Amino acid sequence: MAVLVTGGAGYIGSVTVELLQQEGEDVVILDNLDRGHRESVDPSLPFYEGGIGDRKLVARIAREHRIESCVHFAALAYVGESVGEPLRYFDNNTAQGIALLESLVVAGVRRVVFSSTAATYGEPEQSPIPETHRQLPTNPYGWSKYFMERVLQSCDHAHGLKFAALRYFNACGATARCGEHHEPETHLIPIVLFAATGKWPHVSIFGTDYPTPDGTAIRDYIHVADLASAHLLALKHLRGGGDSDCFNLGTGHGYSVKKVIETAERVVGRPIPTQAAGRRAGDPSRLVATSDKARRILGWNPQRSDLATIIQSAWDWHQKHPDGYANG
Ligand code: UDP
Repeated sequence: MAVLVTGGAGYIGSVTVELLQQEGEDVVILDNLDRGHRESVDPSLPFYEGGIGDRKLVARIAREHRIESCVHFAALAYVGESVGEPLRYFDNNTAQGIALLESLVVAGVRRVVFSSTAATYGEPEQSPIPETHRQLPTNPYGWSKYFMERVLQSCDHAHGLKFAALRYFNACGATARCGEHHEPETHLIPIVLFAATGKWPHVSIFGTDYPTPDGTAIRDYIHVADLASAHLLALKHLRGGGDSDCFNLGTGHGYSVKKVIETAERVVGRPIPTQAAGRRAGDPSRLVATSDKARRILGWNPQRSDLATIIQSAWDWHQKHPDGYANG
């Protein structure tokens, strides 16, 4: 029996694959390598390059590897890109995601851990955000994930498919093997490190007039290895007969853009050039999670999400891989 990890060559996927492997799980990866990196996963693991919507392929994988659960990461995940290319996002994340669920249901797979996002909440009405917060996404990316949550609920009702939807806040950091390599890079911490090494001339601070203590936007940064451990716990929860549910994954603590840059300056031991810039479209001022539910129900206990620890791990990886993965 094996676990199918879609998007297993992506950032969070590859770290989860690494952890599943360490835990002795049989892992099979399905990734189209559009955004993922083959190099990020152990070459000895069964790896299929293909789409989640390829019914024949998923049926064959499910049969040949006796798939019992699926951890579904494969998705496009740039908010800005989703605004410009909504149909691509709804096709890739929702339509292909539904095709995947159909293949899993037909194959008798009844457990799915789904990669969801804080973007399903939209503009927060309260902070920190609990799972019961109204979900009203402000961009097609958030909607594409929100729809999948609803489809999963219907599949539970109709087919007894049990799922855990994990709503990530700001994934960051690295393990010794796996780190963050996006093309193009839009995320704060990698960009701060690029500016520290001179690869980028400076970090643009998107918005200095937010209603926050230092005027810059606040996010809940969570180490990618802590996210990975939540997937393993969610899988155990479902295997133990746990109910379908949604869980926020964050720390409950928010840090401003300026605070991230200051912390990075301490970690790398040099000043990081910055430039004030306008707000980025669609960015809320503050996104912080309550994750009590994941702690209570899954027994999740993030260990590596202190901001300096996160940045140190990203910095270590960056120094070993200054240009990211080779096949980037
Ligand atoms: N940000 C910034 N400069 C950058 C990249 C990001 O000021 O070059 C800000 C962004 O506006 C947000 C925070 O950093 O407030 C985190 O952004 P990121 O893209 O890492 O994650 P997001 O919160 O958009 O998922």
